[in-house]
Amino acid sequence: MANKDLVLLAMEGSVTLDLLERALRSAGYDLVTAKTVVGFEKALNDTIPTILLIAEDLEDKNGLDLSRATLERFPTMPIIFYASTHDPAKVLDAMRAGLSDYIFPPLKIDAIVRAVQHSQKHSHQMGDWVRREVKRTTASLETRVNEMDTLVKLSHSINASLDLDSVLTSVVTAAVELTGSEEGSLLMVDETTHELYMRAGKNYEEGYARTFRLPVSDSMAGQVIETGELISFCKDSPDKIKTSYLVYSLIYVPLSFNGKVTGVLGVDNRMAKRPFTNHHELLMKVLADFAVIAIQNAQLYTESQHERAKLQTTIANLQDGVILLDNEKRILLINPVAKKAFGLGLKDLTNMPVLEAITNNDFKSLLTSITDNPLKLHEIAFEDGRVFSAQYSPIPNVGAVITIEDISHFKMLDRLKSDFIHTISHDLRSPLTSIIGYIDLLERVGTLNQQQKDFVGHVQSSARHITELVNDLLILDRIETGFDTRKEDVVMETILRFTLENLAQQVKDKHLDLQVNIEPGLPVLRGSSMRLRQVIDNLVVNAIKYTPENGKIRVSLHCKSDQIIFDVVDTGIGIPPADQPHIFEKFYRAENAPADTPGTGLGLSIVKSIVENHHGLIWVESVYGRGSKFVVVLPINNEPDK
Ligand code: ADP
Repeated sequence: MANKDLVLLAMEGSVTLDLLERALRSAGYDLVTAKTVVGFEKALNDTIPTILLIAEDLEDKNGLDLSRATLERFPTMPIIFYASTHDPAKVLDAMRAGLSDYIFPPLKIDAIVRAVQHSQKHSHQMGDWVRREVKRTTASLETRVNEMDTLVKLSHSINASLDLDSVLTSVVTAAVELTGSEEGSLLMVDETTHELYMRAGKNYEEGYARTFRLPVSDSMAGQVIETGELISFCKDSPDKIKTSYLVYSLIYVPLSFNGKVTGVLGVDNRMAKRPFTNHHELLMKVLADFAVIAIQNAQLYTESQHERAKLQTTIANLQDGVILLDNEKRILLINPVAKKAFGLGLKDLTNMPVLEAITNNDFKSLLTSITDNPLKLHEIAFEDGRVFSAQYSPIPNVGAVITIEDISHFKMLDRLKSDFIHTISHDLRSPLTSIIGYIDLLERVGTLNQQQKDFVGHVQSSARHITELVNDLLILDRIETGFDTRKEDVVMETILRFTLENLAQQVKDKHLDLQVNIEPGLPVLRGSSMRLRQVIDNLVVNAIKYTPENGKIRVSLHCKSDQIIFDVVDTGIGIPPADQPHIFEKFYRAENAPADTPGTGLGLSIVKSIVENHHGLIWVESVYGRGSKFVVVLPINNEPDK
């Protein structure tokens, strides 16, 4: 044996060391000697010996411990242990530590050389084995890496591609490649004929794949469909999977959609008797999962496209204009009505910033003022006289939708109605004044009998009612047409106290318990004192009117965040829920308003118009049969509309 190997002798200087050196040199070995622990470490690192011969102790270190540490770093290094005495316990320890041989005195040259040669041989065998193992493991790792690579690429293509045919063909191709089989197919059940057809295939003739049909009931793939169990086999002689179709080996895995098996992924070998392994089965299951995900993705995509098309058709055919915006106020969708309203032609505006596409000033102010009250209705006026009502509604995670409705027609009707009311009211006022005047004179020109007096009384009260109505209409007309622009510093407390003084007799007559809470030092507010008096008057009068005798009324005035809040609470008849949304409309009276309680149904609409002209808010909270609360909130620094 050629002794090219280097032996490291780790031993303090002694007769034994000399003997060992001599014996090994004469046998042709190269030697390195380490007499200290430091020297040992250095020799180990610098020379990387083939064999280590180590003494029981090296300086203060135990030779066995040093051997163990060495084996941890170089697991295949043969180590011969030299013990000064023969002790079976020491032999056992050395063997347990993984040392390869053991020598002890009396040492003979032959025995020393034999021990080293034996270890050397062992070392070579070990080296060969390690090399073989490394090669084998590397090859198997390479296969696994390739498999992983194929699977990762496949999963990317499933996520990135919506072309189902090409994704499924890739799955079948991967199945054939990763299992090393001759051909592969993805079969799906045709629900109408209850047959399997080939959705994708690899290494099949195209015509064969296209016309492939297999009855579910009597085929091996059908068995997988029916049992949901994988089939895998390798036979000595080919087996039938379909009439006149024979294979040696095969794997069929079920494709399961929401618990129902409606497809099979298969690979087979017709020519070679090549068996499949468990690992191949596992790979096929993974690939089957990929195929299922790809098919489900495609189905979801088709469904969502279908839904989108349906939604687009619906929106395109709506009578109202619709503009869908993303969070950056870019157009996601705009229907033809909205395009026509803003004169935008037919071009595609998708992704365009809406304020670039639509330059109408009212539209701009709708988009810029939405932060304070998103659901508020806005009017959008065009130079040609058209008026649209627009509503902005935020949509979480999307952006917002703006709907617009052409209200030009209603606006015109409203104008006509106002003109009509205006004319009628004016025309009625003078005859009414003379009717009332003459009725008042009647008693003065001659004595009337009781019946005549009663009749005159009726005429008087009806004429007064009509006068009241006409006056209310004129007030409303003035407010709505914006003639009412006077503004001054208003002390709400003074107005309220004045109103309460005027109504004190009515409160007393009905034995009402009236409580008044006025926060001291309320700020003045800018507004029209005449109109704000009407607000207070109307609400307090209503509370008195609609509260039966002995009821309670509480009025209060206070200030919060630069706003004056006025509320009137009563324990009266309340307002039915169905009537509550309408009581601020003109001429509306709730269904429970007593017939003998006079009223025109105009008071609250006047109140609402005045409050809105002062940029305030009004609302009602009421429990039918129990009472009502009217709340008015007025900003103190407002300027009535011009
Ligand atoms: P009216 O002249 O009929 O009082 P308003 O416009 O002032 O007209 O009020 C409209 C309707 O609202 C009333 O007819 C009545 O049905 C209801 N209403 C108003 N205030 C009250 C109240 N405090 N309690 C119960 N119902 C009320």
